[in-house]
Amino acid sequence: MKPIYFLLPILSLMVACAQTENDKPEKDPTSMEMEAPDWAIVIHGGAGTILPKNMTPEREASIRSAMSEALAAGEEVLSSGGSAADAVEVTIHILEDSPHFNAGKGAVFTHEGTNSLDASFMTGHDRQAGAVAGVTNIKNPISLARAVLDHSEHVMLSGKGAEDFALSRGMDTISADWFYTESRYQSLQRVIEREAAGNSSTGAILNAPDSKYGTVGCVALDRSGNLAAGTSTGGMTNKRYDRIGDSPVIGAGTFADNTSCGVSCTGHGEYFIRWAVAHDVHARMSYAGASLEEAANAVIHDVLAEVGGSGGLIALDRNGNIAMPFNTPGMYRGYKKAGEEEVISFYGDF
Ligand code: ASP
Repeated sequence: MKPIYFLLPILSLMVACAQTENDKPEKDPTSMEMEAPDWAIVIHGGAGTILPKNMTPEREASIRSAMSEALAAGEEVLSSGGSAADAVEVTIHILEDSPHFNAGKGAVFTHEGTNSLDASFMTGHDRQAGAVAGVTNIKNPISLARAVLDHSEHVMLSGKGAEDFALSRGMDTISADWFYTESRYQSLQRVIEREAAGNSSTGAILNAPDSKYGTVGCVALDRSGNLAAGTSTGGMTNKRYDRIGDSPVIGAGTFADNTSCGVSCTGHGEYFIRWAVAHDVHARMSYAGASLEEAANAVIHDVLAEVGGSGGLIALDRNGNIAMPFNTPGMYRGYKKAGEEEVISFYGDF
């Protein structure tokens, strides 16, 4: 064989390498590459008619303090090298245990005057997910959703089956009284009165002055670069027929993938399911190269606002970028990144 034939594969490899180098997108010299924080955490406590005129200083301080406590619990896990999943779980526990939010204690009432809880959990490094819907006797539904992720071969369990699974995992059950709060019960009475007066559409209920959603959610990024997201809710006031919203639906209310972002949503669940909101944020980043902020804003302000789907979301990418768009008057939201002060806001301005 002539020596030139030996050289051909080597030459073509060199050409291919040179081409790959040339094909790489040029770096924008004006862009400042921000260094990703060691860890980051973002939470929401629901979107809706949250306005300064409806708030007392005491109530505002009390909600702020619950959110701050939740962020601090997540920070403790993340700053000591714990996992994003552990941070999401402990953070959501605090929000579930607070009567201010529509999750765990403080959950809204069904038409029948009961509380029926939904939650979901997803980890971004392996796309594992767990969810529960319609549970009535589990104090922290987010932990049950995580147990489904960690200890079952399924993604979503519901009702009595989910509660039986909790028992099989040795989880404690709690009496239904735990979830009772007078203000939520009164909200149900007002909605029922409005319904009797003929103003019963879901939209009318949602746009009522005392209406807010109050679902809770959290997304965390840990030191290993892993993302996790979780959402927990009592659903919507006056829900019937075992209605299930977006919160326990992976891809609608919750999503996490290390290659793009983690997302937790709050809002009118029927829209969030049909527009696959949490997954849409991921998809815009993955397939269209959108930034986290572009993707999150487009879904909330263009897609959902256009069709009348009210609500918001929190999202966090692996570089520690955070987006918290909403198309309602307000959304309880907050975040903390390693080495930075915590940020907590309620209304339509920062
Ligand atoms: N998305 C929830 C649901 O539709 C409600 C909320 O976010 O508060 O069940």
